[in-house]
Amino acid sequence: MTSTWVVHKFGGTSLADAKRYRQVAAILRGEVKDRKKAIVVSAMHGVTDALIELVGLAKTGKEVYLSCADALKARHVAAIESLLPSERRQPLIDALESDFKDIKDVLRGIYLSRTFSDRTLEFISGHGELWSAQVLSAHLNATEIASSWLDARTLFIVEPGDTAVSVDWERTKSRTSEWLKTVKTDWVVVTGFIASTCDGLPTTLKRNGSDFSASILGKLLNARIITIWTDVDGVMSADPRLVPEAAVLEYISYQEATELAYFGAKVIHPSTMAPAIENKIPIWIRNTFNPSAPGTKIHNKAGNGRSVKGFATVDGMVLINVEGTGMIGVPGVANRLFGALRDVGVSVVMISQASSEQSICFAIPEVQADLARTTLERAFFAELHHNQIQMIGVTDNCSIVAAVGDNMVDHPGIAGKFFSALGRAQVNIRAIAQGSSERNISAVIDRGDSRKALRAVHAAFYLSNQTISIGVIGSGLIGGTFIDQLKTQMETLKKEFKIDLRVRGILNSKTMVLSEKGRSLENWRDYIKNSGVSPDLESFVAHVQADHFPHAAIVDCTASAELAAHYPCWLKRGIHIITPNKKANTGTMEFYRTLRSVSRDRNCHYLYETTVGAGLPIISTLRDLIQTGDEVLEIEGVLSGTISYIFNTFDGTKPFSEIVQDARSKGYTEPDPREDLSGVDVARKLVILAREIGLDLELGDVRVESLVPELLRDGSIEDFLHGLPGHDSAMMDLLNRARDRDQVIRYVGVVDPKKGCAVQLKNYPRSHVFARTSGSDNIVAFKTHRYNPQPLIVQGPGAGPAVTAGGVFADLLRLASYLGGSA
Ligand code: ADP
Ligand code: ASP
Ligand code: MG
Repeated sequence: MTSTWVVHKFGGTSLADAKRYRQVAAILRGEVKDRKKAIVVSAMHGVTDALIELVGLAKTGKEVYLSCADALKARHVAAIESLLPSERRQPLIDALESDFKDIKDVLRGIYLSRTFSDRTLEFISGHGELWSAQVLSAHLNATEIASSWLDARTLFIVEPGDTAVSVDWERTKSRTSEWLKTVKTDWVVVTGFIASTCDGLPTTLKRNGSDFSASILGKLLNARIITIWTDVDGVMSADPRLVPEAAVLEYISYQEATELAYFGAKVIHPSTMAPAIENKIPIWIRNTFNPSAPGTKIHNKAGNGRSVKGFATVDGMVLINVEGTGMIGVPGVANRLFGALRDVGVSVVMISQASSEQSICFAIPEVQADLARTTLERAFFAELHHNQIQMIGVTDNCSIVAAVGDNMVDHPGIAGKFFSALGRAQVNIRAIAQGSSERNISAVIDRGDSRKALRAVHAAFYLSNQTISIGVIGSGLIGGTFIDQLKTQMETLKKEFKIDLRVRGILNSKTMVLSEKGRSLENWRDYIKNSGVSPDLESFVAHVQADHFPHAAIVDCTASAELAAHYPCWLKRGIHIITPNKKANTGTMEFYRTLRSVSRDRNCHYLYETTVGAGLPIISTLRDLIQTGDEVLEIEGVLSGTISYIFNTFDGTKPFSEIVQDARSKGYTEPDPREDLSGVDVARKLVILAREIGLDLELGDVRVESLVPELLRDGSIEDFLHGLPGHDSAMMDLLNRARDRDQVIRYVGVVDPKKGCAVQLKNYPRSHVFARTSGSDNIVAFKTHRYNPQPLIVQGPGAGPAVTAGGVFADLLRLASYLGGSA
C-alpha cells in the first residue's frame, strides 16, 4: 500500500540562487494534493564542482583555495540574506561558519601534505547539499510552511564502489522507521547525494546522485510519486543541448530510462529507477522553469508508439582490444578477463566480441584505462609471454552512441537504419554491440564525431526523411517570391506529405539571418531587414548544413557567377543545390564536368529546371526523352520571354524601338535591354540544353545573331535607347517582308547535334506553332527519333517571378521526393 508521502527532488539548476529557491517554494505550495512531502535537494548549482575544485587547488599547493572557499561561503550567505528575515539568519550563518572552518582545516592538511584520500573528498564534496537543505527548510519556515530538514547521512547506509554504490537496505530501513517516529512536520527537506558508510563515515552516491537519493527515499517511504524537477521539460529523445530537434517523451519505461541514463542522458542518474521498480512508484521528470508542462512519466510498462525512444552519447571512453589466436576455443577467457577487471573496479560500459573469438573488444572510462591495461597484462602474463595473446590495444578518445527503446525487438531494420545514418554522416564505427535484451544498440566511435553521430541517428529516427534544412541565397524578386510561396505551402506539405521544409537561413548581398530550427516565414521580410548581421557565405553554408538535419539544400536565386563557382564544393560537402542561376551550367566545359561528376559521386542533387523556360518542364522533358532512349534530332525554340513579348507585340502599329521602351518600362527587360537583345541569354539556354544531350561546347561556340545594332553595342543605356529608333525602318522592312509571305518573325535558338547551336531571327508561316505564341510565351519543339515529323512541344509563359519561383519550388519538392525514397 502506498503511503501519504510524495517525494520531490530539485536539482542544482533549480536551486542556483535565492530567486530560484523562491520559485521552488512556490512550486511546492502549488502541489496541494500531497499531504506529506519529502523534498530532496541538490547543492546549489555548481557548488559540488566548486568544493571538488577546492580539494584540487589545495592538493596542488595553490593557496587560492582559501579565497575560493570564502567566495563559496559568501554565495551561501547572500542567498540566506535574501531568503530569510534578519532575525532568522544567524543559526544558518553559524552552521555555515562552522562547516567552513572544518573544511578549511581539512584543506590545510591537504595543502601541507599535497595528498588526500577518497574519504576526504567524499566528506568535503557533500557539504553543498547540507547547506542547500537548511536554506530551503528555513525559507519555507519563514514563509509559514512548517518544515524540518534531514541530513540523509543519518538514514542512508551504503557500500561505496568505484563508480556506483549499493544500499544496505536493511539497516537503512530500520533507521528510517526510527526517524519516522520522530518526524513532526509534514514537509521535510532532505539532503540529496550524501549518505554514510557502514562504519559511519560520510560518503556520497556519486556525481548526479541526488536523483538516486530521491528514489531511495521514495522506496523507504513507499511514496505515491517521485517527481524530479530539473531544467528541461522531461526526458527527451536526446540531450537538447546537443540536438535542438530533441522531443519530450511523454512516457518511458523504467528500463528505457535506465538504459538512456546509463549511456549518458544526464537528466536522470542510472541507479534512480531500481528502487522505484519494486513498488512501481512512478517517477515524473518535470521542469522547474516550466511547471505547467506535463513532463515525462517513467513507469513499468513499455509504452506504445515509437520503437526507438531516445539516443545518448557517453564521451571520455577508451576502447580496449584484446587479440590473440590463443583465445580461440579456450573456455573461460572472457570470464577471466572481465573477472580481473571487476576485481579492480573497472567499469566495462560496452562489450563487443567477434564471433571468431579471436578478439574481445570493450569500452571503459578513460580514467580507468591504465588500471585496466596493467590489470590485463598481469592477468594474461603467461598468454602474452607465449604469444597466445598478441595484443592488448588501447584506442583513446572514444565515445559511445546508443539508441534505446523497449520495442526495438519487435521491429526489424532498426540496426540497419541506425548504422546507415552513421555511415551517411561519415562517422567511423570502431565497435558495435547490441544488448541481449535488444533494448539498445550501441557503437563506439571517435570522440570528435560524437555530436555529429548523435544528431545523425536522431534525425534518422525522429525527423521525416524528407526534412530539409534550406538556405536561400538572394531575396529579390525570384528569391522573395519563392519564400512567399513556400510560406503558404509549408504546413500542408508537412501535414499531408511529411515533407518538412525548414528555411534555416536567408542571405542577400547586405545581410543574412540564420535560425536553429527554421523560423516561421510569416514576417521574413521584417526579420531580414532588422537582422543587422553581415553576410558571411562560409558561416551561412556551415549553418545550413547542420548535422541534426538529414539533408541540406541551398537555393541560389541569384544570377551570380561567383556563387556558382562554389557549387562543386557545396555538392562535395553533401549539400543539394537548386537554382535558376544559369552561370554554373554555362561556365567552361571543364567546370561543367566537375559539377556533374561531384554531384554523381556524392549522390547529391543539382536541380536547375528554371534555368531554361522558367517554370516550364523543358529540362525534365528533355531528360525523360534521353533517359528513355530517344534520340534528339533538333531542339528549336523561343527561349527568351522578353524577346518573345517584343515580337508578339510587334505588329506594325508601333515602331520596334517603342515596343522595346515599353517592355523596359514594364520591367520585362533587364535594365539594359541590350542584355536581352544581344542574344547571350538565349545562347546560355542553348548551351544548357546542348550539354544536357551530351554535346561538348562552350558558350563561345554558339553562333549568335544579335538584335543590337552594331553601332549601339557600346555606350550608355541612354545612348542605346536614343539611337534605337534609327533602326526602326529596317525592322519594319523585315516585318513587312515576312507579312508579304504570310509569315511571322521569331527570335529563336536552335540546337542541332550535327551543326551546333545558333541564335537567330527566323520567319515561320502563320500556320506554324511558333506563330501562335503570345505574351512572354516560351515555346520549345523537340524533334526526336520518336517525335518525328511532328515534334514534342512545350509552351507557356517562360518568364516572371511567380512562374520562375514556382519552378524552383517544384525542384525543391522533386528533391524531397528523391530523398524520401532513399531512407
Ligand atoms: P539537475 O541539476 O536538475 O540534476 P542535470 O544538469 O543533472 O540537472 O540534468 C538535466 C540536463 O540533462 C538537461 O539540462 C539536459 O541538458 C541534460 N540531458 C541529457 N540528456 C537528456 C535527455 N535525454 N533528456 C533531457 N535532458 C537531457
Ligand atoms: N550535487 C551533486 C552533483 O553535482 C549531486 C546532484 O546534483 O545530483 O553531482
Ligand atoms: Mg542531475
